[in-house]
Amino acid sequence: MPTYNRADLAFERGEGAWLWTGDGRRFLDFGSGIATASIGHAHPHLVQAIAEQAARVMHTSNLYRIPQAEKLAARLVETSFADSVFFCNSGAEANEGMIKAVRKYHAEQGHPERFVTICFEGAFHGRTLATLAATGNEKYIAGFGPVVQGFKHVPFGNMNALRDAIDGTTAAIMVEPIQGEGGVRPASLDFLRQLRAAADEFGILLALDEVQTGMGRSGKLWAHQWAGIEPDVMSSAKGIGGGFPLGAILAKERVAQYLKPGTHGSTYGGNPLACAAGNAVLDVILAPGFLDGVDRVARHLWRGLLELAHRHPAVAEGVQGAGLLVGLKLRPEISNGEMQNAAVAEGLLTVAAGMNVLRLAPPLIITEAEADEALRLLDRACLRCTPSQARDAAK
Ligand SMILES: *Cc1c(COP(=O)(O)O)cnc(C)c1O
Repeated sequence: MPTYNRADLAFERGEGAWLWTGDGRRFLDFGSGIATASIGHAHPHLVQAIAEQAARVMHTSNLYRIPQAEKLAARLVETSFADSVFFCNSGAEANEGMIKAVRKYHAEQGHPERFVTICFEGAFHGRTLATLAATGNEKYIAGFGPVVQGFKHVPFGNMNALRDAIDGTTAAIMVEPIQGEGGVRPASLDFLRQLRAAADEFGILLALDEVQTGMGRSGKLWAHQWAGIEPDVMSSAKGIGGGFPLGAILAKERVAQYLKPGTHGSTYGGNPLACAAGNAVLDVILAPGFLDGVDRVARHLWRGLLELAHRHPAVAEGVQGAGLLVGLKLRPEISNGEMQNAAVAEGLLTVAAGMNVLRLAPPLIITEAEADEALRLLDRACLRCTPSQARDAAK
């Protein structure tokens, strides 16, 4: 179906942060798919885990115990706020389940009228009918019939509007610690803390969408850890499988307890192959020093990007995001699509995001030398995009 605007590039092979087309051209991948190939391409440990598991057993269904899923869930619980985990296959599915979980919680507490999730303008939560309603963006919703009920939107970062929106029908606040698709816009750590406090004050749940920000991308395993808060429930996907489809809902017991047999499920969810991939990714990300390394290389990249933005005032306005989820905010005259194409012409893959931002989400395994190479290519891409008057003025 004509659902995608694909670039005319097809990759045959990858290694680490690099991809090669069939005709031998090499690209530095600072998109990781879309923030998904978290430990790079063809990581030997991930390749081996998938190959060995595929040769044993790929799928048995949730009618039986799945040791790989039990192991992965136990590790996620051990390293997060959560008491239990549900596995699915994508971000939208994780969010769909998270929305069900917060509604079920209030229904079981005797308050079925509390089914509204408060979301934020600029959010992206997925493409299913409920997650489209949570996303709330008219551009994605139009033409798909009645919008699923039970979602409200308030301006991102506005605590007064948030508090005004809370009433007797509110079930939860759902938020991305950094709005990814919406333009790599971070919530301030203070805003996240105030959301936690408001949720506690009104007896509602804090549901974090860490589909894009989680699994080490921010330099900590979960982005909310920078704020020192804990959600009640959280979704994860994208980087969790390192490129293999996998999603998860992590929850406190007080939420998870109500999702009894028959209330929710998935045929593929948490199958042995996907969980073998998830465990292999975690082996890499939880290895001693790995996340410190992500933080270090991210700071190096940020320094370079701030300099680059300073050197190219006719192209870039600034740098935003956190860790290895970085947005180069472009001037209104330069479209992010144009800049993305200029980067491709220089051999660098990036991803556009909302609000005219060029998104960089490299694999977490990049080196400082690779960050420098990306900066060199971006610098040349900026030159390609610099309007001729600005170029003349700079001479
Ligand atoms: C990508 C994304 C989703 C949707 O994930 P899919 O795997 O495409 O369904 C949901 N929330 C956030 C924050 C995302 O970045």
